[in-house]
Amino acid sequence: MLLRHTPKEVVERCALTINPAKTCQPVGAMYAALGMNRCLPHSHGSQGCCSYHRSALTRHYAEPIMGSTSSFTEGASVFGGQANLLESINNIFALYDPDIIAVNTTCLSEVIGDDLTQIINKAVADNKIPKGKTVMYASTPSFKGSHVTGYANMLTAIVQNFAENTGRKNGKITLLPSFIEPSDMTEIKRIAAEMGVSYIMYPDTSGVVNAPMDGKFHMYPNGGATREQIAESGDSSYAIGLGRVGTLNAVRLLDSKCKVRSSAIDLPIGITATDAFIDTLRTIAGVTVPQSIMTERGQLVDILCDKNQYLYGKKVSMVGDPDILIGLTQFCKDAGLHVLHVLTGTPAGSKFTDRIKEIAGDGVVVKAGAQSDLFYFHQLMQNDKPDLIMGNTYCKYIARDMDIPLIRICFPIYDRVGHSYIPITGYRGGLNLLVKMLDIFMDRQDRDAPEEKFELVM
Ligand code: SF4
Repeated sequence: MLLRHTPKEVVERCALTINPAKTCQPVGAMYAALGMNRCLPHSHGSQGCCSYHRSALTRHYAEPIMGSTSSFTEGASVFGGQANLLESINNIFALYDPDIIAVNTTCLSEVIGDDLTQIINKAVADNKIPKGKTVMYASTPSFKGSHVTGYANMLTAIVQNFAENTGRKNGKITLLPSFIEPSDMTEIKRIAAEMGVSYIMYPDTSGVVNAPMDGKFHMYPNGGATREQIAESGDSSYAIGLGRVGTLNAVRLLDSKCKVRSSAIDLPIGITATDAFIDTLRTIAGVTVPQSIMTERGQLVDILCDKNQYLYGKKVSMVGDPDILIGLTQFCKDAGLHVLHVLTGTPAGSKFTDRIKEIAGDGVVVKAGAQSDLFYFHQLMQNDKPDLIMGNTYCKYIARDMDIPLIRICFPIYDRVGHSYIPITGYRGGLNLLVKMLDIFMDRQDRDAPEEKFELVM
């Protein structure tokens, strides 16, 4: 009801954010950390921050997400959090026995100016870190950036801490995915394996945040890349970042630190981007594309051709995470939809804007950063109403207010399940996405059809 008061007239804002289209950096950092085997994410700040980070992930994945906190109170806020973190490290290794503690900072610890390198060095000097265990950190000040920035920062820190160049190339290809669902991580691994590519992938949250129910509690589910695998990536022959915003810094670091040739390409969402991914793998690994992959592609093309009349010219507005938005924009263009608005709360830079315009044309409204919020998104749609919204759960208020169907995509999704298990990447993921879209448009057509036009076979 409150949304009825959103005015159509857009006023340029430079400081105020209303209903942000993002969550905070540590959420993404924790998610990336969970993609390492036997890793406990640790939030260096107040209990309230950590509760929020964990609950955001728990509600999205419908799984208990493990994470610890430095539990700042007034004392730590004034005098710094060193004592709290040292005590935390003691307690965590004694009680929870992880192999890795991945610390993310918070707004508070960043404002105080805690020197995490010095604190961790002190923990090492004081013998607080058991042999064979590691404490690492990523700087994730949440007064800037978003969960995607936090993910990217943690991924870069993982490379910094663990990738090693031994001087002996192992012939493997390292795959570094941007912030995507565990189902998509599984799908990307499946494609690489199907092509006969020897690969290392991290972070890998499959089997961690979508672990099966077996009646027992597992503090560290049996998933995630091992420290040895991550170390090996320093000897790989090539590294591919999938999604530039989330991975570019990490692949660049792998290149400069370990001399691994690398590039960052679009996430393989839809035909064009999956073609590019497959072709990159084919070229770099020197393999041929198997018939099974060609069949998957052909099936996606088949449905696209058969049902194009339900998609062609339909207008779509989307908001979410930048790397996924680039893939979705390409997917929609391939399917004949008209992309009206593309917004992300992540400060994704001019390259993001340029890439969206390159795909969707100059007519698309594209904006990134803090003022690219859901209030602005709603205003845009009041001026040019789309047939479909793609965005996270928070878009449901706008969708309801304007009677526009919503496909839930990106982070967070609190009110539906399936995203952790059903991919949108690769040709198979493209088919899932396409079926979802067709169901929505065809259901609408059925709902709105006059009696004489209501058909059994459409
Ligand atoms: S935005 Fe800052 S203060 Fe708020 S939960 Fe995130 S880290 Fe904590």
